[in-house]
Formats: sequence, C-alpha cells, structure tokens
Amino acid sequence: MAANSNNGEALQFIEEMSRNADAVQKNVLAKILTQNAETEYLKGFNLNGATDRETFKSKIPIVTYDDLQPLIRRMADGDSSPILTTHPVSEFIVSTGTSSGEGKLIPSTKADSNLRLRLFSLIMPVTGQYAQGLDKGKVLQFLFTKPETKTKGGIPVRSSLTSLFKSDIFKNRSDNPDDVMVSPNEAVHCVDSFQSMYTQMLCGLYERENVAAVGAMFASGLLMAIRFLQVNWQQLTHDIRTGSFNPKVTDTSVRECMTRFARSDPDLADAIGQECEKDNWDAIITRIWPNTKYIGTVITGSMAQYIPTLNYYSGGLPIVSMMYASSECYFGLNLNPMCKPSEVSYTLMPFLAYFEFLPHESNSHGLTPPQLVDLVDVEIGKEYELVVTTNSGLYRYQIGDVLRVTGFRNKLPQFEFIRRKNVLLTIDSDKTREPELQVAVENASQLLREFNTNVVEYTSYADTKIIPGHYVIYWELMEKDPTKSPSDEVLSQCCLTMEESFDQQYRRCRVVDKSIGPLEIRVVKNGTFQELMDYAVSKGASINQYKVPRCVTSKPMIDLLDSRVVSTHFSPSLPHWTSERRL
Ligand code: AMP
Repeated sequence: MAANSNNGEALQFIEEMSRNADAVQKNVLAKILTQNAETEYLKGFNLNGATDRETFKSKIPIVTYDDLQPLIRRMADGDSSPILTTHPVSEFIVSTGTSSGEGKLIPSTKADSNLRLRLFSLIMPVTGQYAQGLDKGKVLQFLFTKPETKTKGGIPVRSSLTSLFKSDIFKNRSDNPDDVMVSPNEAVHCVDSFQSMYTQMLCGLYERENVAAVGAMFASGLLMAIRFLQVNWQQLTHDIRTGSFNPKVTDTSVRECMTRFARSDPDLADAIGQECEKDNWDAIITRIWPNTKYIGTVITGSMAQYIPTLNYYSGGLPIVSMMYASSECYFGLNLNPMCKPSEVSYTLMPFLAYFEFLPHESNSHGLTPPQLVDLVDVEIGKEYELVVTTNSGLYRYQIGDVLRVTGFRNKLPQFEFIRRKNVLLTIDSDKTREPELQVAVENASQLLREFNTNVVEYTSYADTKIIPGHYVIYWELMEKDPTKSPSDEVLSQCCLTMEESFDQQYRRCRVVDKSIGPLEIRVVKNGTFQELMDYAVSKGASINQYKVPRCVTSKPMIDLLDSRVVSTHFSPSLPHWTSERRL
C-alpha cells in the first residue's frame, strides 16, 4: 500500500517464489499436514503422520463446501476441539453459494489472515514498476467494509475484504509517510455505504491533482462510485466551495477525520462542477482526476461485462486487474498489470496454499478417478478446475473456478480466469445459479395461478447497460383465460417474489449496497422460445439435445427476445434483508 518502501524486497520475493515453486508447494503442504495432523478430519483418513503429496492424494478426498458444512456448523456453534484446524479460528469469512442458497462460512486463523495481507502487500510494488509517476501520486481506491456479525459460538463473521481492511497492517498504513491511499481509515471502516462513499469521494475530489490511479476492488464497485458522483456532485462541490461537510454524514469518527481534509476551495469546486454538469460523461475520470495513469480494478470473469462502460468513463486508460482471490483463499497476482483486459493472467503464489488442478475434460462421469495435477505440472493451453488445501482447514477443496494456463513465469504457471462453474447471473458479488433461478421462477409463478396462467418458458440475462445493473427475466406465458390476464401489479409482485427467493447475498446487494437495481420481468409473445430454438439450431445446435438456455449472453439472442417483448414489469420495492444468517 506504500509505493516506495520495500518494493525491491517484494519483487525479489516474487522472483524467488517463481523459481522455487515446487519446493515451496511441497513445504506448504507438509506444514499444513503437520500442524493439523491431530484434527478430527485428518485423523479420519489415517495419514499416520505422512506429509508427502502421494499419500495425501491417495487418502484425502476432493470435497466441496457442502461436504464440510456439518463440521463447520459445529465449529461455528462453539465446538473448539480441533475439527478442521488445530489453530484457533479467529474469524469466519462469509461468502456466497451453498446448495441451500445460504452463505458459506470459511474458518480463518491468524496465520491465514497474514497470508492474505502478504499477497495484498505485493500489489503496489508490482504495479509501481509499470505506472510511471505513481510514486509521486496517490491512489483513490474506493474500499468498503460491511457490518460484521457473530456465530452462535461468538466468533466474528466478516467478508474477506472487511477482514483485510480491519487488520492492523491496513489500519496502521496511514502512519507510513509513503502511504498512497486517499481514503481515510474512518471512511473505509464506516459500514454505512452512503456515508463511506460520500467521504471517500469528497477526499478524492480534494486530492484532484494528486490522484494517479482510480479504482475499486471490482469493476462494479467503481461504476457505482461514478454513478454516485453523477447523483451527488452538486452537494460535493457545495462542500468544497464552502469548506463544510454534508450533514447526512453523521458518523462521528468520519466527521472528525474530515476536519483534516475539509477546506474552502471555490476554484476546485468550480472546476469539478464544470465537468460534472456537462451531459456528456465520456472520459469523466480523467477530466475529474487529470493525472490518472490507470484504473485499478478486477475486470476479469463476470466483471468483463463492465469493460466497455469503464473504457467510456476513463477515456480508454489502462485497466489494471491485479488480484485473484476468494473467501476460502487468496490465489495470486497479475504480474503484467498494464496488459489489455482480454490478456489478463494471474500467477498463483505458491506460499498461499497447496494448489492442485483437476483437468477440466476429466471432470466427467468416467470410471477412473480424476488425476489431479500439481502447480508446476499444468500444461499451457489446458483448462483446469482449481482445488486448494489451505492453512485454515480446507483439504482438497474445489473452489469452482475454471482456469486456462497461458504461460509461465519461471516455474510458476499463469492462468486466465475462464469462468465460475454453474453461475448464471451476477451483477456484483451475487452469484445466482440455475437451481436458485428455477426456484425463484416457481415461487413467482404461484401468483399467476388464480389467473389461470402458467410460465411456459423462461430465460434470463444480467443487464448492465445502466448502473446499477439488474436481472432481466424473460417469461413466455400461457393464459388459459384471456379475459382474466394478470395485471401489471400482479406481474410486478412476481418480480418482488423472485427477489425474495434469491439468496442473502443478492438481497444484500439490492438492499444494503444498492449495487443491483429492481428485477425486471419482460413478457414475450407466444412462440418466442420456439424462435429462440430455431435460431440456436440454425447456428448448429442439435434439435435432439437442445435445452432452453436459462441465461442468454449472445447479442442476437437478446435482440430476438427483446424484439418480441409485449410488456415489462419491475419489482415495486426492496426485498427483505437482515444481517442475521443461518448456517
Ligand atoms: P467470494 O468467495 O465471494 O469472494 O468469490 C470468489 C470468487 O470470485 C472466485 O472464486 C472467482 O470465481 C471470483 N473472482 C475473484 N477474483 C477474480 C478475478 N480476479 N477474476 C475473475 N473472477 C474472480
């Protein structure tokens, strides 16, 4: 997070990791197995003290979260015996996606959080090598923490970024004279997203001339920030002109910290106002922050949908997509940060976990068990599913991501992120899979019963043309009694029922983060899904095997559906959300 200090040491560390990748992996596995030999989980597989890869692979099964959920539930409920890890669980990292639709709780230890910080600390040294002048500038990175809860056993439950931003190393960085982050800790730690965003934006505007990079963790977050500026620039420039601070920001520590930034600067307010009041927001980022060298945000995977919009707002600045990580484990970095978004590859760092790779084509229902490949043995051009063994008690755990090998840095492979398995719809940190969409459609279609109407086909699409993006669900209806069609009010209620059916993360994005807009149902003419099939068949799909895609991404298909829309309906209110979660 500091641009100058320790850069050489960090780059040297990466170089050593890349040369000794296999030895590092071997040691990481041995350390994890030694440390956790007495856990209930590992004892159940009779490793008998072995720490070598061959024994490990022959005895320990490949698992998903659902397999571990009963054990994790016990840990969360307060059973402190060594179940998955011998080290005390200091927090649970919460994430999306169990088969029940509820969030995953990933145990995390102190050592684990140090590893995450170590990876995070490598970002600025790597980027600084390429971004000329970064050492003289500041980074306006919009960062947010979310409210934390506790498990029944009293252990804190946090998102992985909240954990990172609450760590002492992050908090103490502002004491470092080389610190380059614009956002004050108080604003990052404020869990009210309006107050946090307002304050970070205001600080960013005060630092207008010094900002050398603008970003957010994910592209969706950065676009939310631009949208925020669009809606709030008049109040922001008023504050700058008068040296005051919006009374809607009530958090006392945030207000107190702003006394360090606030000053009356009418010229700055005028300059910003002149840009914001224009109808055209093309290249607004460089017009507001003229010394910006790059945009720093994850742009791969589901975030790729935001590249055109980001290019528009940034005037085509390089987009640096630095980090690949998950709640279970941080994975690696992009060592070629200034490359084009389509060429981003991540280098997995061998000190973070023991990594294995399931060849993608072998993940079928064959008779022989799949052979997993070690980090240094993957082959260029091939696709693999990522399997991790972590410090905090996940052993041979399938992350659910498909990666393709694009090259090597010394012994270390570099991977293009291909996709997350099974996710249909995503706008922000939500991940809606086919079964959840199916249940939501079923629940909503109950409301049509009294109108003698059925949903005969449906598909969906994540519409991100307008920020915040929203889910669009196309419905083809069969009305058995056309004199009794469901009204707009009924169909709007169907939208809300679908939103109520989605998981906690969707509803959180919708209600708290406001990063997802109201769900929309587009009713299409009868026969539209037949036309969709005709189109797919004309492009080579087999009629025998054709299945209605439950999500469409191809433009011709979306255009076809849109050209047959007879009515559109939006969710009239926010779905229900509480911070409590059920394991
Ligand atoms: P979560 O556990 O909710 O933080 O989600 C982690 C997942 O987000 C990963 O397993 C990936 O599917 C996705 N993800 C994280 N970082 C990236 C990235 N840099 N590029 C593409 N997808 C990513």
